[in-house]
Amino acid sequence: MVDRKCVACGKLQNRDEMIKITKDFSTGEVFLNKNSKQFGRSVYLCYNKTCVEEAFKKNKVQKALKSPIQKELKGILLDEF
Ligand SMILES: [Zn+2]
Repeated sequence: MVDRKCVACGKLQNRDEMIKITKDFSTGEVFLNKNSKQFGRSVYLCYNKTCVEEAFKKNKVQKALKSPIQKELKGILLDEF
C-alpha cells in the first residue's frame, strides 16, 4: 500500500482510494487519471466533494501541478460522486 497526501486537507490515504489528477509530461494537459495508466506529475485528492471544492477554490491543484487547469476539470471531478 502506498499512501498519498490529499492536496486539499493534507490527510494521508491509500492512493487507490483517492482521486488522481495528472499532468501529462509531453502535452502539459491536466486530466483525471482514473486508471493511473498515464504518467506525469500527479496530485491526489480525497474522494469527497469538500476536498475537490477546497482544492479548486484555493487553486491547490494548479499550484501543485504548476499548470493552469481547465475549468471543465472541476465539473468532471464533481461528476464522479
Ligand atoms: Zn482531502
